[in-house]
Amino acid sequence: MSEADQRKLHAPVLVLNASYEPINVTPVRRAVVLIIKGVATTEEEDGDYLHSARSAFRIPSVIRLREFRHIPHQPRALSRKNILLRDRNTCQFCGRVLPASELTLDHVIPRSRGGHTDWDNLVACCHRCNSLKGDRLPEEAGLKLARQPRPFTLHTSRQLMRLMGRSDERWRKYLFF
Ligand SMILES: [Zn+2]
Repeated sequence: MSEADQRKLHAPVLVLNASYEPINVTPVRRAVVLIIKGVATTEEEDGDYLHSARSAFRIPSVIRLREFRHIPHQPRALSRKNILLRDRNTCQFCGRVLPASELTLDHVIPRSRGGHTDWDNLVACCHRCNSLKGDRLPEEAGLKLARQPRPFTLHTSRQLMRLMGRSDERWRKYLFF
């Protein structure tokens, strides 16, 4: 497989439930497996192809599950990665968007003051704001939270899908309902 095709395998595909409700976003690689297994069908094509020795496979942009799947509400694991994803790599104090390597997690209420390690007390924070804040409350350090941190909900996941879909016109009709 060519290098270009390898790259295409990682492109995001929107996954819809049988009811057309968006469920998640998956890489082309996995979407193709779902189609080949007969679990999902292509709703929208990407317009591009994956090439094998004998044939060309149309790359999906949106797929839909053949059978309705009940999606239980699964809370996301509390992790650095998920906090940064929720906060979209944005320092919640100064608003700068930075690569993950330049962000840290800040306990809004410091641990030394009884602050918990939880969704509603952890935010993405740049090193500058983090050292400025130190062991203080935001207001004590003259800092203001961009917004109150909350658990990663299905609503947040939808917002992320919308953001990702903004670049892909084929996703729009499924996401902006
Ligand atoms: Zn900052």
